[in-house]
Amino acid sequence: MDNSNQKMSLTAKVFIGMIAGILTGFFLQLLFDDSGDFAFSLLGIPFSTYGFFVDGIFNVIGQIFIASLKMMVVPLVMVSLICGTCSLSDPAQLGRLGGKSIGLYVFTTAIAITLAITMALIVSPGAGLNLPTEASFAAKEAPGLAQVIIDMMPTNPISAMAEGNMLQIIVFSLLFGVAMAMSGESGKRLSALFMDLNEVIMKIVTLLMSVAPYGVFALMAKLFATIGFDTILSLIKYFVLLVGVLAIHAFVVYPTLLKLLAGVNPVILLKKMRETALFAFSTASSSATLPVTMETARRKLGVDNSIASFTVPLGSTINMDGTAIMQGIATVFIAQVFAVDLTITDYLMVILTATLASIGTAGVPGVGLIMLAMVLQQVGLPVEGIALIIGVDRLLDMTRTAVNVTGDCTVACIVAKSEGKLDQDVFNDIEAGLAAENVDASEFHKTNLSQR
Ligand code: ASP
Repeated sequence: MDNSNQKMSLTAKVFIGMIAGILTGFFLQLLFDDSGDFAFSLLGIPFSTYGFFVDGIFNVIGQIFIASLKMMVVPLVMVSLICGTCSLSDPAQLGRLGGKSIGLYVFTTAIAITLAITMALIVSPGAGLNLPTEASFAAKEAPGLAQVIIDMMPTNPISAMAEGNMLQIIVFSLLFGVAMAMSGESGKRLSALFMDLNEVIMKIVTLLMSVAPYGVFALMAKLFATIGFDTILSLIKYFVLLVGVLAIHAFVVYPTLLKLLAGVNPVILLKKMRETALFAFSTASSSATLPVTMETARRKLGVDNSIASFTVPLGSTINMDGTAIMQGIATVFIAQVFAVDLTITDYLMVILTATLASIGTAGVPGVGLIMLAMVLQQVGLPVEGIALIIGVDRLLDMTRTAVNVTGDCTVACIVAKSEGKLDQDVFNDIEAGLAAENVDASEFHKTNLSQR
């Protein structure tokens, strides 16, 4: 009997991990409070049951899980981008790829923010709300556009890698890949090495993903044990509207674009995105999810490595449609709470700055909210308004990150299709990429024995 059919898919396991984590967190929140109700002294050492689980075990496992994913980002992006670029037959293709990817990313973000503002104006989430507006929020100075562009060029590729500066790593890897393709025999030898390295790195990602259900469980249990549901209730209109617009963008806008521009079945993409979305949701970081997004684009959606290795990491850095949606709705919300009337020019300004802000937002938890300060300042709204929504932002951050990564894969499929590099057989095959996910420890022994 085929053993693989009996195994539960990784997506199902991650989903179970998430639900079990949420329930455990709820349970802990109900049972204990932060001060550790069930505190007692063990051999003279004060012991808090709540602290032991929430700040201890769950925190440690969750943080290790996120760190392990982040660990793979720099090697993965570098190696796969070098492999992808050196396999491009024509360097001019690179310019075209860049143009299409950036153009589509900016286009989808502009749609997202326009949709968000329109819906917020219709629903008016902040009208008539009586919130304490004396809270304070210290805004950081946003870097100017010129500096952002200058900073894309690494002065030192090693420090770019050490700092995980994605745009600089992308620039260096592209150059390295192009030079390798132009270097004849030496380039060919090096390329074989990089291809092998790529395989091994993808294997590490697969290994890490196999323990993800436990990592996701721990992250969810900690979060739901600490999250303040009272704050969410007081901002319920803002919360529901934001989740609603995020859903419209993911389930209507992306599928329509995919159908119109790539002519493929969007339902298949949405189904295959489930696992990546779960990772994005539990980590709230496009950057930490990047290894999984890349796997999905290549193995499940059939996007050729030459496109996926460029478009997906670029997207995890500059494409933040979910974040732009939050910024649009939050701006209207804050304007309404502070009873400030915004003009049409102001809204156009919000669209422009939120698009730029979402490009400049790093794919890590909570940064979208910090970049919101830039949008608010642009139209003269009080930056302290951010303090009003900060309490409910974590769950929303998780949801918008899931939308962000779905956008990255959608654009990767459209670009790949337009370049004739989308393997439609893989795309249409529901089982594609699933076999690679099931890491079996016995494989290790078998391979080892056969090599002896
Ligand atoms: N957490 C988001 C992401 O990683 C960015 C944000 O909106 O804060 O995609």
